[in-house]
Amino acid sequence: MSLVNCKDCGKLQLKESWSREYCADCLQKRTKLSITIRGFLETHPKATILDVHRGTGIPLGKLLDYQREQREQAYT
Ligand SMILES: [Zn+2]
Repeated sequence: MSLVNCKDCGKLQLKESWSREYCADCLQKRTKLSITIRGFLETHPKATILDVHRGTGIPLGKLLDYQREQREQAYT
């Protein structure tokens, strides 16, 4: 086992397979975020990232992070 800094808040944590680069708190926040985004896209399938931002109030930076991660996951 090794120690890593959480990619989001920088908190030092044990690196375990389930936690990846985020601490438990941030992981939970991200899960909620992705549920909100997916829920919005289900009702607005043609929404752009700006529409999601306006509709959900999630900061654009977080949405771009989310989008990039989705893309990375799709390739792996
Ligand atoms: Zn964190």
